[in-house]
Amino acid sequence: MARSLRVAVVGSGPSGMYAADALVSQQEIPVTVDVIDKLPVPFGLVRYGVAPDHVSIRSVRDTLDKVFEKPGVRFIGNVEVGVDISVATLHEYFDAIVFTYGASRDRRLAIPGEELDASVAATDLVAWYCGHPDADRETFERLIPTATCVVVVGVGNVAVDVTRVLAKTVGELTHTDMPDYVFDTLRKSVITDIHVLGRRGPAQATYTTKELRELGELADADIVVDPAELVFDAASEQVIADDKAVARNVEVVKAWATKEQTGKSRRIHLHFMARPVELRGDTRVREVVVERTELDGAGGAKGTGETFVIAADLVVRSVGYRGLALPGVPFDEDRNVIPHVDGRVQCDGGAVSGEYVAGWIKRGPTGIIGTNKKDATATVASLLADCDKLPIAPMSNPSDFDSWLAGSGKQVIDNLGWRSIDAAERALGAGKGRDRTTIQSTKDLLKAAQLNHG
Ligand SMILES: Cc1cc2nc3c(=O)[nH]c(=O)nc-3n(C[C@H](O)[C@H](O)[C@H](O)COP(=O)(O)OP(=O)(O)OC[C@H]3O[C@@H](n4cnc5c(N)ncnc54)[C@H](O)[C@@H]3O)c2cc1C
Repeated sequence: MARSLRVAVVGSGPSGMYAADALVSQQEIPVTVDVIDKLPVPFGLVRYGVAPDHVSIRSVRDTLDKVFEKPGVRFIGNVEVGVDISVATLHEYFDAIVFTYGASRDRRLAIPGEELDASVAATDLVAWYCGHPDADRETFERLIPTATCVVVVGVGNVAVDVTRVLAKTVGELTHTDMPDYVFDTLRKSVITDIHVLGRRGPAQATYTTKELRELGELADADIVVDPAELVFDAASEQVIADDKAVARNVEVVKAWATKEQTGKSRRIHLHFMARPVELRGDTRVREVVVERTELDGAGGAKGTGETFVIAADLVVRSVGYRGLALPGVPFDEDRNVIPHVDGRVQCDGGAVSGEYVAGWIKRGPTGIIGTNKKDATATVASLLADCDKLPIAPMSNPSDFDSWLAGSGKQVIDNLGWRSIDAAERALGAGKGRDRTTIQSTKDLLKAAQLNHG
């Protein structure tokens, strides 16, 4: 009979939930799992990243939530690893740790003026409209009602998400779970023009066709595409011939380039072969200096030196995500990921005993939600294969960790606490004819956790 295992999963996003599921769904080794999250609520970017108007994608959390109903899986929310508890202490209570804490910090543009007021990271804007506990409400509630012209830098799906949310009417968003303060602010929006900048051509943009098409289906926003910016070199033509998804994207923007505007109150200008080189303003951004680029024949782009200026009083930088190091855990500073071989954390050329990694902090910020399932399952296979070699934690009874948590001074959110928050959010939404309404502040979440529990 195999020994039993106590595993800590650090992060309750998709990769953490899929890892927990894979750990308890196999029959050979008895496993109990504590899924620890720094936030009082689970599901990471499914709750705080996926656009609120993409209701069916957000409903993935109902599937993830079922994992907490499985015997042996506990949620331990409001406990930040590296701050409230060290990795060394976790090793005293768990035989193995799986790091699944994601990669949700923004990448920088590294251009002059980036630090000006009203130059914001897409990460922060998304956190604001999704109701993340750390959302900078003051900034967005001040900027959105005073910005007429927005520049969004980047042509990935996150750039498309933020463009769509800013371009939609409040009526197009009322069915979502966005907190009330978001609706109140969007109702005061004076945005008329959103310029989306891609440094390469339409064949190199990384958005997906479904998300792209949605931009052309908005109630009160026209799409503007300059045919002169639809540049295709031989490498682009090859990609279009080889990749149906790219061909479809190109077809969509080509059709827009020939379409008349219909006089809607907002305009989304899609620019290609254009990269920002400077943000200018007094204290707040007022304009973006944009350099024309040309394709370099190998899928990249280089500056031509020719510039033009776009007036803008809000700049949203959406050029990617990066992971952060966790104290006591090996980290690859160049790739911003935890180094691994088959999910086993590596240091000095060897595996670190009892440490594993999955999800964005393992592979970088790529792939869709489902990609994390295959990834987490592969990591768990490595962990289970190592079972007999894993050190036995000195205090591996779940009640030992409960005692540590009880003495931590934190209000820890367990499965019942999460159920209580979930019920409170559903009740809040039902009062407004929605499935749920997100409770934003940590204080209110902690209060909601106690409503039906202790
Ligand atoms: C804006 C945005 C929109 C997206 N939209 C889609 C979409 O529509 N469809 C799709 O398929 N994919 C989408 N994705 C991608 C998808 O969200 C990711 O693939 C997925 O969330 C990555 O999962 P993860 O578990 O690795 O990380 P995350 O989802 O980031 O989860 C990490 C978890 O770790 C927790 N954590 C962090 N640090 C600590 C710590 N020190 N201690 C304890 N807990 C910690 C966090 O609170 C979080 O809950 C989107 C991503 C973004 C950024």
